[in-house]
Amino acid sequence: MKSLQDPVSTIRGVGPKTAEALTTLGIQTVEDLLTYFPSRYDDFAPTDLETAKDKQKVTIHGTIVSEPVMSRFGYRRTRLGFRVMVGHAVVQVVYFNQPYLKKQAVMDQDVTIMGTWNASRQEIQGTKLLTNQQDQEMGAIYPANKHVHQATLRKLIKIAYHNYANVIATLLPISLRQRYQLLDRRTMIHDMHFPKDGSAARAARRTAAYEEFFLFQLRLQSIRRANRQKDGNQILYNNQELRDFIKTIPFELTGAQKRVVNEICRDLRQPYQMNRLLQGDVGSGKTIVAAIAINAVVIAGYQAALMAPTEILAAQHAQKLAKVFVGTHVNIGLLTGSMNTRQKRQMLKGIKDGSINLIIGTHALIQEQVDYANLGLAIIDEQHRFGVNQRQQLRMKGVHPDVLAMTATPIPRTLAITSYGEMDVSIIDELPAGRQPIKTTWLKSNQADQALQFLKGQLAQGAQVYVVSPLIEQSETLDVQNATDLYQEFVEYFAPQYQVGLLHGRMDNEQKEQVMQDFQDNKIQVMVATTVIEVGVDNPNATVMLIYDADRFGLAQLHQLRGRVGRGQQQSYCLLIADPKTEDGVKRMQTMVETNDGFVVAQRDLELRGSGDVLGNKQSGVPDFKVGDPVADLKMLQIARSDAANLINTPHWDLRDENQPLVYYLTRHELTTHFD
Ligand code: ADP
Ligand code: MG
Repeated sequence: MKSLQDPVSTIRGVGPKTAEALTTLGIQTVEDLLTYFPSRYDDFAPTDLETAKDKQKVTIHGTIVSEPVMSRFGYRRTRLGFRVMVGHAVVQVVYFNQPYLKKQAVMDQDVTIMGTWNASRQEIQGTKLLTNQQDQEMGAIYPANKHVHQATLRKLIKIAYHNYANVIATLLPISLRQRYQLLDRRTMIHDMHFPKDGSAARAARRTAAYEEFFLFQLRLQSIRRANRQKDGNQILYNNQELRDFIKTIPFELTGAQKRVVNEICRDLRQPYQMNRLLQGDVGSGKTIVAAIAINAVVIAGYQAALMAPTEILAAQHAQKLAKVFVGTHVNIGLLTGSMNTRQKRQMLKGIKDGSINLIIGTHALIQEQVDYANLGLAIIDEQHRFGVNQRQQLRMKGVHPDVLAMTATPIPRTLAITSYGEMDVSIIDELPAGRQPIKTTWLKSNQADQALQFLKGQLAQGAQVYVVSPLIEQSETLDVQNATDLYQEFVEYFAPQYQVGLLHGRMDNEQKEQVMQDFQDNKIQVMVATTVIEVGVDNPNATVMLIYDADRFGLAQLHQLRGRVGRGQQQSYCLLIADPKTEDGVKRMQTMVETNDGFVVAQRDLELRGSGDVLGNKQSGVPDFKVGDPVADLKMLQIARSDAANLINTPHWDLRDENQPLVYYLTRHELTTHFD
């Protein structure tokens, strides 16, 4: 009984050596071979020579009607000439310096010829010569490598299709195929390899891309379902107590915040382990959402942990949340690297006996030997800053704590629904009321004076400003502004009227916290900093962000930096000083000027850098789709995702006859890469 799962070696002409070579292209089974699709096609649609113009690229199908003549002249130069009958007309064809064509060009042979039309001589100067191509107008071009040649692939795929066409079962449910007018799988595979024309190739590609997205999403969704069936804590908090707490928040939650709070709280009450990604642009107010979830957990008698990527951010969270939690039972412990042994021991004891019920820290939270009394919720702020393993480790703490991963922009939609497809996603797509869009300006370095003038004007109106420079110390190879030098310059420029502070990663924690505190208290008006302020830092009175050498930063990072301002009611500004030397650099600056929308920025970032680079290949988990392009075909990817989710969530979908090919597919393709 033939099956697409048969090894390729069952195909005539595939010996052990070829089979070995094919594995370098990821081909092991007949199905792998049949779904090894062309990357493009040569168009063999014939040209009407009557209307062809001089030097036009032409294609003809015909029969060789004169004995081909090969002449040699000069050093290693050849000319191969013969006549071809096309319909009732005869044309002269010549090939220069392709002596090997002599073997294919034989009298009476049917051929397809591609070349350039020479109008004055009424002949074709050939570039390609193909035999047996008459039945189709499109020639598949496969991504080959040095082990497997183009011609081998063509031949094997042809044989494989011929032998296995009748066992190609359609995977997609009929309802979806009808809804999107997709081809059945056999036709799709046929037309991917041997389309009769361009429109057949396009239709096949559409079906293939959808099928690929759908199958991938089906695997993710089935993992998600399996995860959901795992044990977790049922966190049953007193609803009234939580509502009373929410009333103490000094502002009204946005609609989007309310919605995501509900989504999270619903998960907390369920008996399975929550695995939720909270996405929201910088400044959209994720912290308060986290605070509400934390308090729900504490009310129910559990502990919560909040992990931040930097000490500065951890300290800021501890300080701000202490205010938010006044009058509640939340007792915060900030675990930092700068604690002495005695302090640390004290802290760990409190965590173990449960007297501390909100633990805030950096990855020390997972690296140190921290024993939790009853960890119910683990929150990871700026989760893209953490490696997969670190996230996984935090998840292992306690008895299956619910996990909430928070992130701003660097995960564009595409990545969110590919690599994070097994997580539930909550999105805050609304900024708090009264926010004005940040005005972004791009200046050349010889216009830096204008920026300083502008800063002065803003400071005079009571604003606070950030000034960012890329590196801490002078580097000989990189001509970048030096934070310490900049700081000196700014002191000279702005003192004594305004206080200037310096913040960089090499300062010790106490110094950092002091500077941050002074900035929050408006004792410092100008904060010169390296990118340590990139994530999370929140001072709503800061309204200007000045970035030197802005082209040295990636888009995601620039957007994060810009997100430090525009957090209050006042108009905020972002000034980029840059003389980009690459086209990419120019595009990045333009993108920043054009849009404030983090999702747009992220999407553009993805287009400029490619999906693999955005989170680093390993971490992103974005598969190499063979046909579909997660950027260009984003809409289709989204649709496939919701279709897959709908199917998986239909009761007994896996018992229905029409879905058996899919069930079988899933058992064969269990997703082994588990994205933490
Ligand atoms: P991010 O999502 O970038 O982490 P934050 O949680 O730091 O954003 O919130 C940004 C600022 O907006 C904070 O100063 C916060 O107090 C404020 N904020 C959050 N939600 C609201 C709201 N609904 N109305 C007004 N201000 C809000
Ligand atoms: Mg934040």
